Amino acid sequence: MPRPAVAPAFALDARPPRAPSGAPSPSSDDATTVGSGRAIVCRACRTPITTDDARTSLFGAHTHDRMNPSGFVFRIGLFRRAPGALVASPPSDEFPWFPGHRWQIVVCRGCIEHLGWLFSGAETFHALVLDKLAAEE
Ligand SMILES: [Zn+2]
Repeated sequence: MPRPAVAPAFALDARPPRAPSGAPSPSSDDATTVGSGRAIVCRACRTPITTDDARTSLFGAHTHDRMNPSGFVFRIGLFRRAPGALVASPPSDEFPWFPGHRWQIVVCRGCIEHLGWLFSGAETFHALVLDKLAAEE
């Protein structure tokens, strides 16, 4: 008889009772919403992409300037999640902007505008081009 494909309850709460950063615990959200906090939208079509509270700092900062192989500099912000962004390429480790992380191009779910990259490695995060985004008023 197969075992039920449900993890034991304790596996869902392995974190320490207090977040060490002192940050408020993020409200749970599903992939069907972009989450809590002020929406950050695609500047071109106003599709919700992510939220203010998904901003994260890795490698010393939230905002990074990175140059692509063509010499174009992007100012990118790092986000823990971006449900409005669609992955549009297979993973690549050419020209790694963040050591040990592979990247995939992500585009706007609404208008297919290139928004940035999804990086995966020791950390998984979206690096979104800040010029392509706008804060929802
Ligand atoms: Zn868009």
